[in-house]
Amino acid sequence: MTTLSHTALGFLVAKLAVSRGWLPADTSTPYLLSMIFANLPDIDGLASLRKIYDHHNALKNLSHYPANWFIVFTLVAMVAFPFEIRLFYPYLALAGINVLLHFILDTFSIYNGIAWFGPWNTKKYSFIRMAPILPADTREWVHWYLKHWVVYLEIALWIVTLLVLL
Ligand SMILES: [Zn+2]
Repeated sequence: MTTLSHTALGFLVAKLAVSRGWLPADTSTPYLLSMIFANLPDIDGLASLRKIYDHHNALKNLSHYPANWFIVFTLVAMVAFPFEIRLFYPYLALAGINVLLHFILDTFSIYNGIAWFGPWNTKKYSFIRMAPILPADTREWVHWYLKHWVVYLEIALWIVTLLVLL
């Protein structure tokens, strides 16, 4: 899904965490971090700005294998353990939930999908039917995307986020 949808869901997750008292309400930090965490796996887009529709393959799919993030978060949790950093684990949980939701959103893909069992099994899964051909460029990707019903799902997510925001 698009950056805007990942960011919107990141905002909603922060809103929920703050309203439940899991994260502090007197600062914008939970919202800011949540929206960054929600886009973390798309870091491969920076390596693929000209072929953004194909960014999953830019870093050999490394940042779009859920298992890799599980390993990263587990290591970070272990390294941070002796330091007793305030609110570290609530924020780490925020990162973990956002990255998991990123992969669920990316599984609504007209092209690519998510290799949930990678790097061992690189078959990519999508909840929806993928475009019949691989797009040649970003314009062609946008063309397929705008014709697909998934665009309405994204618009619905943006509207819900706007309503929560107001
Ligand atoms: Zn992604």
